[in-house]
Amino acid sequence: MWESARGVGGLDEGSTEPRGRSDQNRGGQARMMLTLREQLQDPIYKKWFSTPPREEPSAAKSPPWWVYVQKKPGGRWRRAEFTSWKAGYKYIAKNIKKYNDMALVHKRQEFKPPVVRHMGKRKYHLPMAQGHVWCGYCRRLTRFSYFKKHHALPKWANSGERRCNICGIRLAAIKRYS
Ligand SMILES: [Zn+2]
Repeated sequence: MWESARGVGGLDEGSTEPRGRSDQNRGGQARMMLTLREQLQDPIYKKWFSTPPREEPSAAKSPPWWVYVQKKPGGRWRRAEFTSWKAGYKYIAKNIKKYNDMALVHKRQEFKPPVVRHMGKRKYHLPMAQGHVWCGYCRRLTRFSYFKKHHALPKWANSGERRCNICGIRLAAIKRYS
């Protein structure tokens, strides 16, 4: 069921390591990414995360969801397909303490961050997290880095652009929120 990084795109050990660039401080704090467990300490995000999302109908045949798991900090990401949000959510709820980090990722649909009302106005709820960006596919804050090889992508897709550390989407391709 679980694909290793190698199984996905013929990637080597260490493929989860972002390539060193100015924003990437190898071995330093700068590379640390907030885990899902840490992000779920925020009650607004937690409520949003545990609410079934509105999914757009799709003609695609393959299951729409991935669950990504990372066993240890800095370790390899693995993923498995899930046919429904509910099944993926249940798996995460059950195993959130078992793994260092996880994500419930939609393959085809980008989701907006939680919306809150502030002084009568609607605004996106994005806790301040240095160097983190909302990935609408991962449905969480992630980091975007340069990869020589990315665990979620075949080799030909490595284009020297910043990509999501979990799902591999290009930074240039996602919607940005502030
Ligand atoms: Zn992502």
